[in-house]
Amino acid sequence: MAARTVLQQADINRALTRIAHEILESAKGATDIVLLGIPTRGVALAERLAAILRGIEPSLGAEIVGALDVTMYRDDLAHHPTRTPQPTSIPASGIDGRTVVLVDDVLFSGRTIRAALDAIGDLGRPRAVRLAVLVDRGHRELPIRADFVGKNLPSSTSERINVRLVETDGVEEVSIES
Ligand code: 5GP
Ligand code: MG
Repeated sequence: MAARTVLQQADINRALTRIAHEILESAKGATDIVLLGIPTRGVALAERLAAILRGIEPSLGAEIVGALDVTMYRDDLAHHPTRTPQPTSIPASGIDGRTVVLVDDVLFSGRTIRAALDAIGDLGRPRAVRLAVLVDRGHRELPIRADFVGKNLPSSTSERINVRLVETDGVEEVSIES
């Protein structure tokens, strides 16, 4: 059960700053960006990215972050009927015609993101949907990839990536545990 630290606070901050720049670059300066974090830690990461983005591009609106709960859209819902849905909240301006950037902490099989795409379809029709993750640990089961990745961490299926953020865990660290 040894945990090895792979990202410290400064590494996480640098990765998020780089991702924010990459998001702006790929949006070609567009100011239609909406960040939707997937609870729990994806929301904290989306809020951080929004703060960095506003610092770089002050013309971005104040309300560019939301939370997207995907619990009811999961294909494994029958196996986890007791999972508690978290609130979904999207900016008042909605997502129609906007560039939506989904934000999550870890990308694994891709099933969460598939569910997120379904959830988005019930909320509107974005111009484009992108994906930003802090960690890509591999093992995709669906044709899904991230556009913006903090760190690629090829892992074995028996390993677990621990993502701890100040907002949710009081400490800041990514570690890999076997
Ligand atoms: P997927 O749906 O791609 O299999 O898994 C991604 C979702 O499950 C993300 O929301 C992520 O929070 C969680 N997840 C999957 N594997 C891990 C992992 O190794 N560590 C952490 N912290 N979360 C994981
Ligand atoms: Mg998650």
